[in-house]
Amino acid sequence: MDLMEYQAKQLFAKHDVPVTLGTVVEKAEDAAAAAEALGGRVVVKAQVKVGGRGKAGGVKLAKDPQEAVELAREILGMDIKGHTVHRVLLAPAADIAEEYYFSFLVDRAHRNYLCIASIEGGVEIEEVARTNPDAVAKVSIDPQTGVDDAKAAEIVATTRFPAEVAEEAKAVVKKLWDVFIAEDASLVEVNPLVRLGDGHLEALDGKVTLDENAAFRHPDHADFDVADSGAGSQLEAQAKEKGLNYVKLDGAVGIIGNGAGLVMSTLDVVAYAGEAHDNVEPANFLDIGGGASAEVMANGLHVILGDPQVKSVFVNVFGGITSCDAVANGIVHALELLGDEANKPLVVRLDGNNVEEGRRILNEANHPLVTLVDTMDGAADRAAELAAK
Ligand code: GDP
Ligand code: MN
Repeated sequence: MDLMEYQAKQLFAKHDVPVTLGTVVEKAEDAAAAAEALGGRVVVKAQVKVGGRGKAGGVKLAKDPQEAVELAREILGMDIKGHTVHRVLLAPAADIAEEYYFSFLVDRAHRNYLCIASIEGGVEIEEVARTNPDAVAKVSIDPQTGVDDAKAAEIVATTRFPAEVAEEAKAVVKKLWDVFIAEDASLVEVNPLVRLGDGHLEALDGKVTLDENAAFRHPDHADFDVADSGAGSQLEAQAKEKGLNYVKLDGAVGIIGNGAGLVMSTLDVVAYAGEAHDNVEPANFLDIGGGASAEVMANGLHVILGDPQVKSVFVNVFGGITSCDAVANGIVHALELLGDEANKPLVVRLDGNNVEEGRRILNEANHPLVTLVDTMDGAADRAAELAAK
């Protein structure tokens, strides 16, 4: 689960990371009193689960409460990369001397944790990595020992934090590590971590991803589960409600498969096939699990067809305990259930238990939207081709 900035800052505060919580408002009128209480000069910040709000006009400075209301009115309702702004955070305008970048994340490739930090923060770290790779420090962290005093010192030295802030930086690094470990986060990112005019450090922005597999250890995290407004998160919420294992991605080929492993490899095969068709990519991950009943299939198709980015759908099923004929019937009945809602081409690849009967059922149904392809590669190619049209 990704947190919004104001939520990330609540976790920071809980672990003594220097931060100013500010006030969240949903109505522009409420910004006046909030700004007044915060000292008048405030920053008004869109709360959406997407980065680059500043560039998109979602972070603005107000000189007084009246301007705070005007800016809140401007930012509330704004669309930032497909996310509608329903809340703004007001915080005292900070006096920034320098902006740094700091993060802890899971480094899957090395079965480790990783700290990425830079004294050139404020801008996107990818941009710094491209233009000035030497300014990006990467320090790997042994999960067994974590960030102790020595590791914190190593991180601060490698990042080349200025001497004036080095001691405080070590303490902040350790507190951010507390957030990362104690809250079971898979990402803690602060951009910018700033040096204020008075010389102290403060986390001016925060991005935290919590590991939902550890939710049982954190009953308080449930409060963070407020609906975001992005199209993707709405689809994900819909899928969650139906008990589907769905992750929205950015491409145009909708994917349905049974079994996480098969769906993962389907994503790879479609991405590869897409290289020959305008570089189309998978639009989602959706594992409908073992029992591919008509209802589950219809629920899955409903979610995928509700994604305006989807141009074609690849249904990739390997018949096991639920045999191919049951899946084929599931597809046919799902299309009946969906009626006019089924309006994008479906490429179906069936294999495994009772495949002949499954293919016979689909051929006999002869649905105008369905193309049956025998191989996974062939089906991926066809689905990519249809999406590129
Ligand atoms: P992002 O664009 O979504 O990453 O949003 P940030 O919270 O990082 O804000 C973007 C930029 O706005 C920061 O890098 C700062 O330069 C600036 N900014 C944010 N808050 C303040 C503030 O309180 N005072 C000042 N002067 N600038 C701020
Ligand atoms: Mn930021």
